[in-house]
Amino acid sequence: MTVSENTLQPPEDAEARRAVAPVICYPNEALPRPDVPWMKSLRARASKTGEVLVPPRDARCFEVPAGHFFRITSVEGPQVGDLNLWNRNDLSERFYSGKTRALHGTHLTTGERMWSSFPHLRPMATIIADTLEWYGIDSYGGSVHDVIGTRCDPYTGNLLSGTQYHHCCHSNLTRALADHLNIPLAEAEPAVHDVLNVFMCTGFTRDTGQYFMKASPVRPGDFLEFFAEIDLLGNLSACPGGDCSSEHSSDTAACHPLLVEVFAPASGDLKGWDSPASNGYDRSHGR
Ligand SMILES: [Zn+2]
Repeated sequence: MTVSENTLQPPEDAEARRAVAPVICYPNEALPRPDVPWMKSLRARASKTGEVLVPPRDARCFEVPAGHFFRITSVEGPQVGDLNLWNRNDLSERFYSGKTRALHGTHLTTGERMWSSFPHLRPMATIIADTLEWYGIDSYGGSVHDVIGTRCDPYTGNLLSGTQYHHCCHSNLTRALADHLNIPLAEAEPAVHDVLNVFMCTGFTRDTGQYFMKASPVRPGDFLEFFAEIDLLGNLSACPGGDCSSEHSSDTAACHPLLVEVFAPASGDLKGWDSPASNGYDRSHGR
């Protein structure tokens, strides 16, 4: 019998079909492994070259040369951040949240990487330290630093409740990029992309599959630290959701700044190291 009729009726073997064990799409062992101990050894000898304090409900850009490091720290109070990354020399190469999720899972931590868009598909930044690694996955299925959310934006707010709110992460990132590159908002906006939700605690409900957020476990002093694999332009928004315990896309949540610090490796420490090459696919697409 085929499924052409009565397709709404579960088949007789429905339970057996549901019981089929899942297969991991992209086993971790197949990925090139970053040498995190080596990166940490460089970091131990690195020296700070700059910092940017991202104001609440706003965003700031920062630049990190290949082989340097950047650290995002919670200061003053619990706050989540929305992070965009571009190749400093080519804005068309940007962070690819969806593929990063497929490769590493829904949330990132030490040893995992932020991957770039096609046709490059190479590591942009590798996480070398995460003080919230202890959190793991809670009983709701929630975890920290997700690549499942998009970025809060004024369009969704307008769709759902007719609002005109201007300090969602999407707008914050757009203004900061326009200011940093001295380009019009209309040119900056299409470059803004889905983010790494730094410090945000999220998951999907098991019963309805809906995206949820809960109060971030982040405390002042917690940080996430990265090794820049290529020359980076970063852009971080201190989300108007604050710790995301109640709502975002408004001015009601308590918000705090986020600190970004950049560190340069010691002279000679990058000898013999190069940025990862762009992806090796020949781009002929069968023609
Ligand atoms: Zn946001």
